[in-house]
Amino acid sequence: MKFEIVTIFPDFFTSIFEYGILRRAIVEERVKVATHDLREFTHDRHRTVDDRPFGGGEGMVLKPQPLAEALASIGVRPKAERGPEDAKTRVVLMSAQGRRFTQAVARELGKLERVVMICGRYEGVDERINELYCDEELSIGDYVISGGELAAAILVDSITRLQPGVLGNEASSEFESFGVPDAEIDTDVEGVPRSQYGSGGLLDYPHFTRPAEFGGRSAPEVLLNGDHHQIRLWRRREQLRKTLANRPDLLEGAQLSATDRRIVDELRREGVGI
Ligand code: SAH
Repeated sequence: MKFEIVTIFPDFFTSIFEYGILRRAIVEERVKVATHDLREFTHDRHRTVDDRPFGGGEGMVLKPQPLAEALASIGVRPKAERGPEDAKTRVVLMSAQGRRFTQAVARELGKLERVVMICGRYEGVDERINELYCDEELSIGDYVISGGELAAAILVDSITRLQPGVLGNEASSEFESFGVPDAEIDTDVEGVPRSQYGSGGLLDYPHFTRPAEFGGRSAPEVLLNGDHHQIRLWRRREQLRKTLANRPDLLEGAQLSATDRRIVDELRREGVGI
């Protein structure tokens, strides 16, 4: 799949994808990332991309004309003129006013062939660009950052790691926080999820590595003894504990087995999440 980023700061992206999983995914051509410099679509001597807001007030607004030309240069037509061949492209405006971007949205966008992201700056983007070209506005969270670039990079990263082959089997995204919430619960006779079972929409369990003793704290004994059944049971319990403590809202949408629910009740009685 391809990401296209429309920005006044294309250099922002020169090194951000050059590390780790993202770098490899790009080198192996599992995804492509292209940036488009808005200033190249201006026609005045100062290459002006912004202007003062109608109605007055603070700050500047990105002008619609360079954005429309930048979009045209990559074959994005106004929504009213699109055909079936455009269905595999989504045009997204990065915006604090957008729908909240989550792992579920990352999965949804990951099925497309092309995601075009428009990065706002200053006070934002002339709203007619949203009206005419954007399929949706996406927000990375309930806070305001100075530009859409960081938000676009977060989309590229989170969507890329969900693409087939990007993470090895070992580190499959199903087993991470927010992993496949609609996974079938596959439990053994005791109701303990089998190893291939995803996180079911819960947070990840805590991880430990050597040394076994650190800062006066021991790594949990159960992880050291090699009993995989006990380890799975412990990890599931810790996932439930962490989710209950830090993100109780996620439990509502999570896939819980009868055993999970019993554990949650026990944790609540211990005072977790209260
Ligand atoms: N006036 C706007 C904030 C503008 S910040 C408001 O109050 O909503 C400048 C740009 O940063 C925005 O146009 C947008 O592209 C980007 N941005 C800021 N916060 C964001 C967020 N939470 N998610 C995605 N993009 C964001």
